Amino acid sequence: MSQLRVAIAGSTGSIGRQTLEVIKAHDDDYVVTALAVGSAVDLVVEQAKYFKPLVVVVADEHARRQVAEQLPDVCVVDDLVSIVDVADVVMNGVVGFAGLPVTLETLRQGKRLGLANKESLIAAGPIVQPLRSVSGATLVPVDSEHCAIHQCLRSSLDHSEVARLILTASGGPFRGRTPESLRAVSVTDALAHPTWKMGPKITVDSSTLMNKGLEVIEAHELFNIDFDNIEVVVHPQSIVHSMVEFTDGSTIAQLSQPDMRLPIGYALAYPHRIATPFGRIDWTQLSTLEFETPDTTTFPCLSIAYEAGRRGGTAPACISAANEIAVDAFLLGRIMWSDIAMVVEHALHHHKTWQPTTIDDVLAADADGRRLAQEALVA
Ligand code: MG
Repeated sequence: MSQLRVAIAGSTGSIGRQTLEVIKAHDDDYVVTALAVGSAVDLVVEQAKYFKPLVVVVADEHARRQVAEQLPDVCVVDDLVSIVDVADVVMNGVVGFAGLPVTLETLRQGKRLGLANKESLIAAGPIVQPLRSVSGATLVPVDSEHCAIHQCLRSSLDHSEVARLILTASGGPFRGRTPESLRAVSVTDALAHPTWKMGPKITVDSSTLMNKGLEVIEAHELFNIDFDNIEVVVHPQSIVHSMVEFTDGSTIAQLSQPDMRLPIGYALAYPHRIATPFGRIDWTQLSTLEFETPDTTTFPCLSIAYEAGRRGGTAPACISAANEIAVDAFLLGRIMWSDIAMVVEHALHHHKTWQPTTIDDVLAADADGRRLAQEALVA
């Protein structure tokens, strides 16, 4: 049997490293043909020596020269989208807006895309959507919630039978806290996620519920469901990864351990399933599954994201960009945790929304979100 060729954008990040773990466990079925990173020299060299890809992309010029010296037999280049040429499946685990070109090129070439880069779909939905109808192009979400919904929807043949999508949220490290008690939380507090092991940006987003807000927009884009029919429920155990309610009142849920290797394996094997469970649910240990309403007073980012989603056009691109700036500033100790929502809200309320039709439109909206966020930071 021939192996499926896999390219990984963002191979040294959390999703990238876990994708390599899954492939390592299934090296009869998959071969890594390309790795792409920003500037992590040592780790990408180590990965390349083990997986022997044809192509390694390094964005940073200085880092690229160092990688090229250490990998004389590998084609080391700067062009991120070149990874698509040598792959059957592309895993896009790039953090932030920089992941957009990989998303576009993979779909354009009619290949399968494992999409963990939520910003590209949120910011550039109107640009990405038409490419999904390219022959062979398949978008499989690598996000536990959207992967869950993707699985639940396979139980229905007719899209009009879907009544509601219910996204679950762990609630993050600050669930149950009051706004006052969160005034002075530290970066370390925000990075202490109770159930998921993820990169720093998404972990902070999880603590503000912005992650869930962006996921609501992503669900709207992926599954074409109105914002009025997408709900969020807090589920601290992170075992139910999301649910779909159908018109007859039946709800189908997807349950598994909170381990990103499951959605990664799902995207690699789709429409089949890989043979490694990466942690089964032990029903003798699992006694409680709790659900509660999200607290949008303490976590206003969720409402801000709904507002941006309903406004549509360039508004999601604007808040996604503003949020990147705000989270960076928080991680650098420049602003407090509670300022993140304030910065993003400032950007949304001062952004003049229009309907993007080109990548330049999306770039302009992204730039405007960053500019407005910077404006709020210095204010
Ligand atoms: Mg998620």
